[in-house]
Amino acid sequence: MRRLKIFDTTLRDGAKSLGLNLNINEKLEISRQLVRLGVDVIEAGYPASSAADQEAVRTIAGDAKGAVVCGFSGAEKQEIDCCAAALRGAGQPRIHTGLAVSPLYMKRKLRLTPEQVIEKAVFAVKCAKKHVRDVQFYLEDAFCGQHSFIAEIIASVIEAGATVINIPDTFGYATPWEYSELISYVFDNVKNIDRAVVSTHCHNDLGMATANTLAGIKAGAGQIEGTINGIGERAGNTSLEEAIMAIYTRQAAYGVELGVRSGEIAATCRLASRITGVPVPAHKAIVGANAFTGTRDIYRDDMEYVKPPYEVIDPDAVGASPGQDMQALREEMADDSSEIRVKNISITTTGVSRATATVTLDVEGDTLTEAACGSGPVDAVFRAVDRMVGEQVFMEDYALKSIGHNGSALGDATVKVRYGDSGLVVGRGVSPDIIEASARAYVNALAKIKILNGKAQGPASQPANII
Ligand code: MN
Repeated sequence: MRRLKIFDTTLRDGAKSLGLNLNINEKLEISRQLVRLGVDVIEAGYPASSAADQEAVRTIAGDAKGAVVCGFSGAEKQEIDCCAAALRGAGQPRIHTGLAVSPLYMKRKLRLTPEQVIEKAVFAVKCAKKHVRDVQFYLEDAFCGQHSFIAEIIASVIEAGATVINIPDTFGYATPWEYSELISYVFDNVKNIDRAVVSTHCHNDLGMATANTLAGIKAGAGQIEGTINGIGERAGNTSLEEAIMAIYTRQAAYGVELGVRSGEIAATCRLASRITGVPVPAHKAIVGANAFTGTRDIYRDDMEYVKPPYEVIDPDAVGASPGQDMQALREEMADDSSEIRVKNISITTTGVSRATATVTLDVEGDTLTEAACGSGPVDAVFRAVDRMVGEQVFMEDYALKSIGHNGSALGDATVKVRYGDSGLVVGRGVSPDIIEASARAYVNALAKIKILNGKAQGPASQPANII
């Protein structure tokens, strides 16, 4: 069986393309969990896109042991040099460069002839090779490219030293059989393809990302790219936990082996959801709250336990043991080390939809108190907090859920806040009291913004439609 490599791009194509401004601790938390999960490659960011991405790639490069750390780049020398500089501390660095190959993109976006595109691609790979041995080349919008041209450019970049060839379905348009045909075509028509690993990169616009990825594996791909919980631009990327468990459960059907510790899947998905503020739907395959309901042991008439025949995954195989959520939340509640802390809240409600909140905060060691009116207790609390923290923000989303049952339940609040004209920040708060949970979540988001503003970052989003 051939060994299939797992390439995680949660931090680059996932969170980044959603415009999320994760701070360095949040990115490190995700990358450390990805190492525990055992992914082969972590794409940590796009260094030329922002100072924050440079810092993320540099920090993760020095921290993630046992995984290849990859930085994304355009095809310009300046971007490639910037990427290489950020990767300097990595044990196993990889530069991921490339450019568009579809007729429309070559003409409209690059304004280059196909010959010029090949020339530029070869130049980019040679630039990257001066810095690192391991160079991955992406063919942006490959699925809409001409097959013969794709084969030609791939042969040229392998000749120039590319070690991995990424063939994306950038817009999530392919059917599984078409994607499989494209990968097969590459194997059949690129004479030096045995010198590189072929990688899939699928998007989920038609709900086909996982299916297309698996079709790519059947056609011979040696690496698959995706994100945890399938997060990403538009309908997202291939959900790595789905692809991993499809292979784990039906290994004979795919004929590949993995180096992943599947028992870390639930913890990884939970962490990614908590940090990105992107909830996991209850019916989501593998890690949704309902994924394992109905799979409990059933009794036969003779009172002997039997497993129902429709249980295809054992919850233990993904580490989905009950009660874990609660424990993680209690730990999170106890660990409040942020610069701004909620000390006290008192609420008066006056008639329908009117409330006054008096909030006391600890802001970098100073105790402040403010009162404000709002259209309900949560709104009043947020307004009072605004008066003390003084950041101009726009509330993009607010969600509250309860974890656990009855008297011991905890309120788990998530806010998504937009600031300036750059990115989104996610704040989270946990408390047995839902007003306090909401206040903590809001304060948590504002504290992150204060730090980000102090660093004066560039725009958070990468240029649209990369791969
Ligand atoms: Mn992508």
